[in-house]
Amino acid sequence: MPKMTASARTPLVAAVQHAPGKTSKVVKKVVKVSGVPDPKMRAKPGKMVYYFGQLMTEGAADMKQLLGGKGANLADMTTIDLPVPPGFTITTDTCAMYYRNGQRLPHGLMNEVHKNISFLERETGKKFGEVGNPLLVSVRSGAAVSMPGMMDTILNLGLTDHSVAGLANSTKNPRFAYDAYRRLINMFGDVVMGVDHHHFEEAFDKIKKKHGAKLDTDVPEQGMIELCDIYKSTYQRYVGEVFPQNPFKQLELAIEAVFKSWNGDRAVSYRRIQGITGLNGTAVNIQSMAYGNMGEDSGTGVAFTRNPATGENIFYGEFLINAQGEDVVAGIRTPQPVDQMPKWNKEVHKQLLEIKNKLEKHYTDMQDIEFTIEKGKLYMLQTRNGKRTGAAAVRTACDMVREKLIDEETALLRIPAGDLTQMLLPSFDPASKKKSEVITRGIPASPGAAVGKLAFTAAEAVERARKGEAVLLIRKETSPEDVEGMHIAAGILTSTGGRTSHAAVVACGWGKCCVVGAGELEIDAAKGKLTCNGKTYGRTDTLSIDGSTGEVMVGTISTVEPKLSGDFSQVMKWSDKYRKIGVRTNADTPADAQRAREFGAEGIGLCRTEHMFFEGDRIKSMREMILAETTEARVKALDKLLPYQRDDFMGIFKAMKGMPVTIRLIDPPLHEFLPHEEKQQKELAAQIGLSFEKVKQRVSALHESNPMLGHRGCRLCITYPEILEMQVRAIIEATIDALRSNYKPMPEIMIPLVGGKRELAYLRTKVEETIAKVKEEQDYKPRLDVKIGTMIEIPRAAITADEIAEKADFFSFGTNDLTQMTFGYSRDDIGTFLPDYLLHEILPADPFQTLDIGGVGQLIEMAVAKGRSKKPELKIGICGEHGGDPKSVWFCHNVGMDYVSCSPFRVPIARLAAAQAAIKEKNNKD
Ligand code: PEP
Ligand code: MG
Repeated sequence: MPKMTASARTPLVAAVQHAPGKTSKVVKKVVKVSGVPDPKMRAKPGKMVYYFGQLMTEGAADMKQLLGGKGANLADMTTIDLPVPPGFTITTDTCAMYYRNGQRLPHGLMNEVHKNISFLERETGKKFGEVGNPLLVSVRSGAAVSMPGMMDTILNLGLTDHSVAGLANSTKNPRFAYDAYRRLINMFGDVVMGVDHHHFEEAFDKIKKKHGAKLDTDVPEQGMIELCDIYKSTYQRYVGEVFPQNPFKQLELAIEAVFKSWNGDRAVSYRRIQGITGLNGTAVNIQSMAYGNMGEDSGTGVAFTRNPATGENIFYGEFLINAQGEDVVAGIRTPQPVDQMPKWNKEVHKQLLEIKNKLEKHYTDMQDIEFTIEKGKLYMLQTRNGKRTGAAAVRTACDMVREKLIDEETALLRIPAGDLTQMLLPSFDPASKKKSEVITRGIPASPGAAVGKLAFTAAEAVERARKGEAVLLIRKETSPEDVEGMHIAAGILTSTGGRTSHAAVVACGWGKCCVVGAGELEIDAAKGKLTCNGKTYGRTDTLSIDGSTGEVMVGTISTVEPKLSGDFSQVMKWSDKYRKIGVRTNADTPADAQRAREFGAEGIGLCRTEHMFFEGDRIKSMREMILAETTEARVKALDKLLPYQRDDFMGIFKAMKGMPVTIRLIDPPLHEFLPHEEKQQKELAAQIGLSFEKVKQRVSALHESNPMLGHRGCRLCITYPEILEMQVRAIIEATIDALRSNYKPMPEIMIPLVGGKRELAYLRTKVEETIAKVKEEQDYKPRLDVKIGTMIEIPRAAITADEIAEKADFFSFGTNDLTQMTFGYSRDDIGTFLPDYLLHEILPADPFQTLDIGGVGQLIEMAVAKGRSKKPELKIGICGEHGGDPKSVWFCHNVGMDYVSCSPFRVPIARLAAAQAAIKEKNNKD
């Protein structure tokens, strides 16, 4: 059957019998689309306005890009016979044209608007701006992606001094008519002309006082008439013109205001925060009014088809009697919960429950709706997929599978993988948070909620925390020296650094709440003071930090502990059923390994051995090793570290029994292990029996201008092979011990920061020699299966991956460094310019968080192909922070990696994202 489009049908005008003054009896001609919807067929080049109503419906649910979410769904709800007041939608393309035109409405737009207003007049039997029975409309914005609060709605547009009298007459309700008019003048003045709302508020308060009214609904007809006059003069005083008396002029200005709102501060920041890019603009929805303010039998409300915080399958929302839309959110009167509605109007409540089911069946998803009741008759004003918490997403998805609304695959695709984090960590109680004072925002580096008094050094944090105080560690930036303080603190807050800064990476690995790069903070660690926007906070002050939003708040905000439901395990089970790639974790301690295993990790993809050198006495031996002037002295110090490393590896093998563990040899520049303050250098000198001068001299000798491009990674072991020998010895001794204890260890030795085959070849030989030596010493005869591989984190390594593969048993992409070196952005300093790059859409997202597929991704793709061209069985994974980012996990699946590796708390996210990637791939093939 051919598809029917609006143009293929009987001309509209001929199908309508217009009876002025009465609602028309119209021939219902909804354009129903048969077969597979094809939005391109219905979207007509040059067409700027799409009508929805009983006369015809030109849009459809799949036209969100063109009509915005609201417009597309209004058309769709009309098509499925829900009671929607008729109207029309101006396309998002028209908004784009408005901007291309130097912010002028495109030629011909108002003609199309006039034409559609006349359709509306025919359908409703009312006339726009006429005295007899005036047609009034609402004007609302609506982009393809919902942007709550982008622009306020304008209601009752079309009322003038002239038509308000007509409305009073035709409804025989003058109070209602003047109430509607005062609302229009207020909303139009505020939203379209920028008059501050409080000027109108003040006037309203005076009228209420004069008429002895407590609530706005108590103001009598006379009061409303007076209020309209006062509002008009308020409008004139602040706008400099009289309130427009031509309804088409009102409409034109309102349309333009919606277009302008697209680039208003609110909308721009919303898009930036949410990372929304690539949209055309906003659509404008113009819809005939349904009045919720016609008396006690009228009202308005908003609701969700399920509880958006918990996912519980109950109708959830609020309504307000004798009110229009903005009253519900304005908080002037307290709305009632929808479950109280039967006491007021049983029939409407029943109808809403039927609509809830119909909408959920139709969209097979939880909906967020707006409705109005005019004299007992229900009208639907909006439906969209409801925003929900991670917990609600999980529960709704599982419930809907049980209710046979969706299948398992759809359920998995419905859950934003990143939102699972919220379920794993404590979070702030939303009610308590609402009342808080936010002093600044940083980069949300590691989710969670932390409350504590301020500690300005790691040592201070340790000391105070040990005495039982909850502290937040406040640092300009952190370094490996701070780990103990970081670990013991309730949360970490830094004024510099980005998502892959030391603080961020370490905190994320522990699942510890962390906010970095809060640039407004001035930290004076010596004085123990933090200043932000003129206010100062000290050691006895308490702050709360939200690692999911980056907010820093004053005082104690209460938290709620996560409760993992059976639905969470169900989602994980389904994920494992569908995903094709493995999920490992980045962990450096047996405790982290154990936790990650509980979250479903199938091995360790990155064990950063340097993190093992900081605890307790180890740092002393490490420093002794670094400061040693001869190989013998270095070996002596390394010998002290050996038992620690061996025990750590043993603990990890035990925790990861039977699973692969990738252990990376030392990576950071050595100066990171040394103290930089004179006092500490003196202490160190005394501890290890060197002169202060010597220590100072050695520290300054290790100073590098660009340490991240300096003496680090595999370069360290080329200069100091004894470090490699100690580390490999510790790994192999632990492996043999673990084998003998039947822990089934599967060690993989990884060499970092390789840029070419020869580096790897040289070090591989050293590793193999050490393995052979330890085997012999330990008298271990059977074959030891220890894979030796490398990280690909330097662009040159990616480019020469075919050569490198000859010497590697596996590749692991270190995308933190690979991103740093591909862009030339310092991973620790991106916070200084990233906000501007995001604001101007120079970057679509933080490339240290979401893999830059167009650039870094190309290098990865090339390295995978080149590596496997030489060695088809080459095992390939990723261990940069991107391994736990859903979009990046999709990419890793698509390029054919064997696994992703991420911090323990992100393991469930990666499992779900990997399943989503596999399902999407399958769906695209079908
Ligand atoms: C990387 O560079 O992606 C990586 C995992 O190593 P690190 O973050 O320790 O430099
Ligand atoms: Mg690296």
